[in-house]
Amino acid sequence: AAEEGFDADEVAGALDEAGQGPLPVLAVIGRPNVGKSTLVNRILGRREAVVEDRPGVTRDRVTYEAEWAGRRFKLVDTGGWEQDVLGIDASVATQAEFAIEAADAVVFVVDAKVGATDTDEAVVKLLRKSGKPVVLCANKVDGPSGEADAAYLWSLGLGEPQPVSALHGRGTGDMLDEVLRVLPEAPADTFGAVLGGPRRVALIGRPNVGKSSLLNKVAGEDRVVVHDVAGTTRDPVDELIELGGRTWKFVDTAGIRRRVHLQEGADYYASLRTAAALEKAEVAVVLVDVSESISVQDLRIISMAVDAGRALVLAYNKWDTLDEERRFYLEREIERDLVQVQWAPRVNVSARTGRHMEKLVPAIETALAGWETRVPTGRLNSFLGEIVAAHPHPVRGGKQPRILFGTQAGTKPPRFVLFASGFLEAGYRRFVERRLREQFGFEGTPVHLSVRVRE
Ligand code: GDP
Ligand code: GDP
Repeated sequence: AAEEGFDADEVAGALDEAGQGPLPVLAVIGRPNVGKSTLVNRILGRREAVVEDRPGVTRDRVTYEAEWAGRRFKLVDTGGWEQDVLGIDASVATQAEFAIEAADAVVFVVDAKVGATDTDEAVVKLLRKSGKPVVLCANKVDGPSGEADAAYLWSLGLGEPQPVSALHGRGTGDMLDEVLRVLPEAPADTFGAVLGGPRRVALIGRPNVGKSSLLNKVAGEDRVVVHDVAGTTRDPVDELIELGGRTWKFVDTAGIRRRVHLQEGADYYASLRTAAALEKAEVAVVLVDVSESISVQDLRIISMAVDAGRALVLAYNKWDTLDEERRFYLEREIERDLVQVQWAPRVNVSARTGRHMEKLVPAIETALAGWETRVPTGRLNSFLGEIVAAHPHPVRGGKQPRILFGTQAGTKPPRFVLFASGFLEAGYRRFVERRLREQFGFEGTPVHLSVRVRE
């Protein structure tokens, strides 16, 4: 494809990068103050600072893209967990359980100066049960004299402790090499691996939007049991539910059930749970409670789904509560706040009365179809040719950047690479994306557009 000044390697490289499937997930877990956030910052090279350490300010970002030795992976940072929501042990265990569930490999951080505590031992049990690969990070080994402390951690039975100083960077490279040895190339549960298996749905939304009610409704009243006591739930976290003649896997429903954690102040926990569910799902059904104004938290959850590259359905729940006035304002709010996701199928439901439950499955199917759409290269390029002819990029500095050709690098969600003769402005990219959607649909899916410029 030595087309118009791009050599074949360049094109192949761009496609490789843009077409990469889901990345494996590495979770960093451990007790509070062992240095998880410091380590995450270190791994990210502080490119994306994990800050906001003022008490009371919850961090909701929990996953980051990281790279080591040319390999990319997702990093789940559990350092933001507020320890006062539950007792320390319960919170560490719950947080760890979720992070482990979502991860393909785990870095378990222990404070080598303190040594292994009972809480650490409890986490080790969870790790054993999970069977996931683990790298034991003996942190706060700031110098050679600390190595002996690290050696004590052999007692945890997780193999060789990696002596690290997250603060100074000592040993982190060796530890990451070890991580890459055990981290799978792709997530265990990749989309390809479940071809023909049940499609995976994440039911997400802020606390009290009606997630468990909706799950109850679709699964049949008795299928979902709400446990009010932390740690009493021992059920599998996913639930198979038959709907519309096929079986769906609702992922991470255990999280939905554990109502106790959804109390005030557990925002970070809720985010972690949402991220974990998204990690495992193909399509996200985001519930919005129409009895209240659309909130920043709703928008954040929708962004998380979009950023995770999942298909998206918006379910406006508690429709039974709407009066005319509230309905008027709701539509204004949607116009104002949700234009960015206009492409998501919308259903107006009531988990209480069962209203429009039958519309949920078709909406999910539409979104999944959009998510998997592949546009043949020929069609794409004749479409791009028309755009360039009818709506050329504005002239900048006496030059007119032009799209030369394009190709779809991947699906789930659709990812396109455009090759251009010059820098394409954001406005023009958005215009191209809009036209792509008009032409090819992509209902219910984010669309990624990257541009390569000929030097
Ligand atoms: P988290 O709660 O596990 O995320 O822990 P933090 O990353 O917030 O670190 C807790 C405290 O330990 C902070 O004061 C850090 O500066 C300190 N810390 C983290 N890593 C190291 C280390 O390698 N050596 C030393 N001496 N202190 C560290
Ligand atoms: P979750 O925290 O998202 O799982 O929310 P729940 O399912 O626990 O619901 C929170 C509250 O909203 C409960 O009191 C439900 O009875 C109520 N609720 C859920 N769905 C509806 C609905 O469609 N209409 C009305 N009026 N109330 C609802």
